[in-house]
Amino acid sequence: MDSTALVAVENLSRYYQKNCAIDQLSFSLQAGEVLGFLGPNGAGKSTTMQVITGNLAPSEGRVIINGFDIIESPRQAKQHIGYLPEHPPIYREATVDEYLKYCAKLRRVEHGSIANAMEESKSHCGLNEVGHRLIANLSKGYQQRVGIAQAIIHNPAVVILDEPTVGLDPIQIREIRSLIKTLGAERSVILSTHILSEVQASCDRVLIIREGKLIYSASIETLKNYRNKHSITAAFNNPPPIEQLEAIGLIEQVESIDNNRFRLSFNSDSPAESLVQVSVEKKWGLFELVPDHASLEDLFIELTQDENAGVDSAEAEG
Ligand code: ATP
Repeated sequence: MDSTALVAVENLSRYYQKNCAIDQLSFSLQAGEVLGFLGPNGAGKSTTMQVITGNLAPSEGRVIINGFDIIESPRQAKQHIGYLPEHPPIYREATVDEYLKYCAKLRRVEHGSIANAMEESKSHCGLNEVGHRLIANLSKGYQQRVGIAQAIIHNPAVVILDEPTVGLDPIQIREIRSLIKTLGAERSVILSTHILSEVQASCDRVLIIREGKLIYSASIETLKNYRNKHSITAAFNNPPPIEQLEAIGLIEQVESIDNNRFRLSFNSDSPAESLVQVSVEKKWGLFELVPDHASLEDLFIELTQDENAGVDSAEAEG
């Protein structure tokens, strides 16, 4: 176990009857980190967030929050977590102040500290002017701020946000993303989302899950480089000098992997067809041509399409 981690998730699995929603997930969150938990719909994000926050029991594995096991010591573990679920439990018929006071009591904030906790969380979330307003009468963007304010009312070290911008218009999305950045400056955050650009805008590191499994983990810088570059691995019986490969159209960069193999990077269109043609002409003996991380590329396409669909519908609503 990673003893320096604020959140340590170890071999976590969760089944719904026979359906495996999350499968042997392991990862950690360090202090000060904003971690993106990215995956397409149905990948298992909400299930993971519910298990981490102690709202759903795991089938296997364990979750340690700041040293406390979420199953064995739920009260201590939950003290360190704030949670904005995918469907926030806000009471539309209450005012913002009434609701936050209720949440502070639920979260066992000491009686004498409640007023201060409310002021702090309202101030962090830009809600100072709307304390007396009914939640039902606020815009969706402000309702989401109230959802975030309840998540930080007890001043937790870790905040977990599940799809915080779904259903918001583009301006509200920008405001909530900026709020997440501010939160991330003071706390550790796990941001669960199916929107690639959301992770790029707000996170330091990303984990990508698909069908309940962790398939990619990287810093945001690496993710950005990965997205813009594609590569294939080519193997030859009579390998040519690197310069001859670099001279083939569409190939941006050539890296030697071993005596016979090369990684060929390109920006958009694949050079595979030209490569096969030149290889036959020059008798290089091409015997292998494999796209790198093909499934990851498919996944990015899926996530990018989803992302565009989200913006379109948000604009249509707005
Ligand atoms: P979304 O963004 O669409 O909510 P997600 O990545 O959060 O997707 P989950 O909601 O965790 O994914 O769902 C993971 C898998 O578990 C899916 O196949 C889903 O159908 C299934 N699942 C989720 N909740 C339940 C449930 N209560 N009972 C049965 N199956 C469920």
